[in-house]
Amino acid sequence: MKKIFFLFSLISSAAYANLHLAPPDFDVQNGRAIFVDFKKADYSIHYDMIEERATVRTRITFEAKNSGFPLFDLIPYPNSMQLDGKKVSQDLIKFPGGVSQLRKVNRVVGPGIHVLELSNEISTNISFHSDFGSVSQAFWIRDLKDRMFLEQYIPSNFEFDQYEMNLNLSFEGAEEIEQDIYTNGVATRTSPTSWSIKFPAHYTVSCPYFHMTPQGWMKRLDFNYLSLSGKNIPITVYSPWKKRTKRFKAEALRVMQELEADYGPWGHDGFVAYGTMKGTGGMEHAGATATSFGALDHEMLHSYFAKGVIPANGNSGWIDEAIASWRDKGYQRLLAPGFSGSNLGSQSIYKRNTDSRAYALGAAFMGYLDYRLQDHGGLKAFLRGYFHAYKHQVITTEHFKNNLEFFSGLNLDSEFETYIWGENSEDSLHHVEENPHHKALSTAQLKSIL
Ligand SMILES: [Zn+2]
Repeated sequence: MKKIFFLFSLISSAAYANLHLAPPDFDVQNGRAIFVDFKKADYSIHYDMIEERATVRTRITFEAKNSGFPLFDLIPYPNSMQLDGKKVSQDLIKFPGGVSQLRKVNRVVGPGIHVLELSNEISTNISFHSDFGSVSQAFWIRDLKDRMFLEQYIPSNFEFDQYEMNLNLSFEGAEEIEQDIYTNGVATRTSPTSWSIKFPAHYTVSCPYFHMTPQGWMKRLDFNYLSLSGKNIPITVYSPWKKRTKRFKAEALRVMQELEADYGPWGHDGFVAYGTMKGTGGMEHAGATATSFGALDHEMLHSYFAKGVIPANGNSGWIDEAIASWRDKGYQRLLAPGFSGSNLGSQSIYKRNTDSRAYALGAAFMGYLDYRLQDHGGLKAFLRGYFHAYKHQVITTEHFKNNLEFFSGLNLDSEFETYIWGENSEDSLHHVEENPHHKALSTAQLKSIL
């Protein structure tokens, strides 16, 4: 098993320089729009407690490999933008085929390092509590909908890219601010009215967890889990209710043990879980989740597959939902996938969200792969090695297939061509029911769990 993953490890030797995983650059009026490699993003969020406004000033250092108009994304309107120190404008444009939108900087850059600076207001998932002089805020994300990662709040790159992100929070209009901060980065209080949070450089736009509440609003428990690696993993569970927090602690410990036994040592520095109300489902971050109790185990599995081994785009998002769903259904071994074909992994190369048929169709395909790999210890044996070899790396469906074939010696061309990169068969189309683990919460519901 150890030697099995060497071949493909060598190919991805340049750490976090992920431009080869970006979608193709494309033509726009007057030239070419180019994807760029973010090196570092510094975000300074300023909270005006009197005006009840949050504004963020961003400085992004990026590298361009080709000449063209640099691409990024941000849903709020970008203000006072500068590229390499000079004022520049931007346009909201569509990807080829119109599958999603993004922003294009209106000046051509040449290959090399550049700096983009801009500011914007944050008004999504934030509440000012003027009576208490405090703020509730979260960077909630969703992977089944388009443009629901960090671009909802701060200027960001696309899922393929991994880069260092720093958040500096400063509050104006109060002498001292009492906030609790829950995060999967390293948070440091830098003054009575400021904090900084540093996220690991392997994070993508779907990894950071940031939730801030007035001090003492949540009932929290902090404890350690002794990992198989020999390290103590610090765990924080919290919720509005003491009883719920206690249940989360017991369940987190149970699931941690199960997942480590199956897939090896936990791949993150810690684990943070926010217990939301029943029926809300959950969302995974890297070593963190906001989830209802029933989906906690599903979201923890995602710390291995989704935020441990990380999908590069919408066409590879099906893999982690398929694995998580296969586990939810008791790791069934299936003689056949039970549907005739689908295009789960072969939609527009610019598509950013995951096809929600991944739960049903993807899980069935995993069950079938488990059957095909039965002489090699089954799919779980493969996944354990795959996680070990590629944790903190961004992967695609092609990468997943290549490694499955390398591990098993099987040729899986026709299986992938039919079930993942094929035509949607009649029997694949009705598998679009909502998954209880990733409910489509409304804007108001997302705000209500702040
Ligand atoms: Zn999931």
